[in-house]
Amino acid sequence: MSVAALIVAAGRGVRAGGDLPKQYRRVKGQTILWHTVNQFISHEGVDHIQVAIHPDDHAYYENALGTLLQNAKLLPPTHGGATRQESVLLGLLELRKVAPDTVMIHDAARPFVSADLISRLIAHNAEGAIAALPVVDTLKRAEGGALIETVDRTGLWRAQTPQAFRFSALLAAHENARGENLTDDAAVAQTAGLKVVIVEGDADNFKLTTEADFKMAEQLMTQGNLETRIGQGFDVHRFDDGDSVTLCGIVIPHDQGLKGHSDADVGLHALTDALLGAIGEGDIGAHFPPSEEKWRGAPSHVFLAHAADLVSQRQGRILNVDITLICEAPKISSHRTEMREKIAQILAIESDRVSVKATTTERLGFTGRGEGIAAQAIAAVEIPHD
Ligand code: MG
Repeated sequence: MSVAALIVAAGRGVRAGGDLPKQYRRVKGQTILWHTVNQFISHEGVDHIQVAIHPDDHAYYENALGTLLQNAKLLPPTHGGATRQESVLLGLLELRKVAPDTVMIHDAARPFVSADLISRLIAHNAEGAIAALPVVDTLKRAEGGALIETVDRTGLWRAQTPQAFRFSALLAAHENARGENLTDDAAVAQTAGLKVVIVEGDADNFKLTTEADFKMAEQLMTQGNLETRIGQGFDVHRFDDGDSVTLCGIVIPHDQGLKGHSDADVGLHALTDALLGAIGEGDIGAHFPPSEEKWRGAPSHVFLAHAADLVSQRQGRILNVDITLICEAPKISSHRTEMREKIAQILAIESDRVSVKATTTERLGFTGRGEGIAAQAIAAVEIPHD
């Protein structure tokens, strides 16, 4: 039995926003279309893949699929029509060249179609079989914002794709239904009297429509693909004339100040280096050279926020940070809560993921002699890897 997948990608998909039709937007470094096509290419039960695209989208298509274009299962794209139904018909007509026994119609915007679901549909080998999920929410009918009735959900299903059919029967059904505007192929098949059965779909096999869907897609694709990394940082600033020190973003009155190009916040500097270390991004001096005048007197939260930004840019998140301040004076304990909250705010994480500790060196060494303050920090981050 030969099986072809017809992927409908001819829509303009403006609802999700952005300049590109949504099937050409990238999630996790690849386009939605790439993810979708790849699922069918890598399934051993699928012999041919035909994609129906908008006539204007050839460049997008070639860009989107990259090396997949060389795969022998992938047929040259065909042009879709003005409606989804017309696009499917044009795709089916093109597929006559390979004349499969079974055709699976699938939306390009459902990249989470699983190999299991494809297998279940193929195994059914029915005249028609669609992936669907039972309706579990209570359904209400309303008019003008006011409830009229509760709709009995018995026997109601939410239709998904893929939808699988005998190729010749579906082609005939589509030729008969030409010019109508039916929303899925099961509806077309039914107008021709084909028997269509339900195969349990997957909750993850959702259609990307809104911006929130794209966020969820990003999360789903990085699941199970995260690694934890740690970094450490160390910094020292010497005491100088002054009447306060800035430690972990908090100004503490003291009989001396700390000397430095910026605000000399030794705690935030160590922490910034720890975060940069965790993602292999060099050190604070490389990002904010002391030779640059613009960083003179700079508040160190700018440096720390930049490091946190670099973590976010990699779709990473900060798991926890831990700082130890090393000095005889000033006393830290009464400022600890405020420091944790300040750091949590800069990093946009919960304060229970932030620890600030303090210790002395028993009057030994430069910190013991009161010549300066040292700080060390460690940070754990979780970032996606390929
Ligand atoms: Mg420093």
